[in-house]
Amino acid sequence: MNILLIYAHPEPRSLNGSLKSFIIKRLENAGHFVQLSDLYAMKWKAALDADDNTERQADARFDPSLNSKQAFEQGTQSKDIALEQDKLRWANAVILQFPLWWFSMPAILKGWVERVYAYGFAYGVGEHSDAHWGDRYGEGMMAGKRAMLVVTAGGWESHYSPRGINGPIDDILFPIQHGILYYPGFDTLPPFVIYRSSRTDEIRFSRICEELGQRLDDLWKAAPIPFRPQNAGEYDIPRLTLRSDVAPGQYGFGAHVALNQL
Ligand code: FAD
Repeated sequence: MNILLIYAHPEPRSLNGSLKSFIIKRLENAGHFVQLSDLYAMKWKAALDADDNTERQADARFDPSLNSKQAFEQGTQSKDIALEQDKLRWANAVILQFPLWWFSMPAILKGWVERVYAYGFAYGVGEHSDAHWGDRYGEGMMAGKRAMLVVTAGGWESHYSPRGINGPIDDILFPIQHGILYYPGFDTLPPFVIYRSSRTDEIRFSRICEELGQRLDDLWKAAPIPFRPQNAGEYDIPRLTLRSDVAPGQYGFGAHVALNQL
């Protein structure tokens, strides 16, 4: 299988750097092909702007979505964006690896998403009408591919538990797992999260590698998070709210996960 690792940490000698090397080795030893996008090493340009379309009219008002759409359709996207899209087309599975920074991904990785997820590629796909609000949330260009997060966090696991002060980790990662991965069609596997990362020594590191290695071995057979697909009848269209008989009494992020399938 082809696996794309999108990695965002500025220091190769960090915990994340060691985990990145472990992930690549484990997957390659299992016979998979791995491509790495090491965003800091690539000096990835994080800011989405008018230069992302190489043929944009200099005096035109900059419209981020339209600029992206035109560049994608006309083949005038900046080269770094097109190369990352090719890697995504190539991949059967994608791993996003990063330290949790301010309850989200580092800005450089967010910038990768903003620029690589072009209009017509990751959004604006399929029929858009009052009867069908696009191919997304379970459908789209990434349908049939798998994705997983590997995240390190300074906080304790209890801080991210259902009643923990930081909020549940599933809620914190929801915009990434549901909004960035499931939206363009990825089957999103449960995340691999390392809590209290500063407390890592040789012994803990080898235990982490054992657990992470198992997750990598299971990449093709693990059950994805059962997010509810947009176009399978559970949402009223075009309001796109859950039908009243689906998950009655449930609100918020959790309502979009079919708990009875867990
Ligand atoms: P490192 O600091 O490189 O390493 C952590 C530990 O692992 C060290 O003790 C190191 O010695 C050890 N180690 C590294 N490699 C190995 C190895 N090969 N074998 C054995 N031991 C090893 N945390 C939160 O929970 N929530 C937040 O919102 C949050 N926001 C942050 C915002 C910013 C801007 C920053 C800088 C940090 C934030 N943190 C937050 C903490 C952050 O998540 C952690 O600092 C990060 O996850 C640690 O990952 P690292 O790769 O940088 O680890």
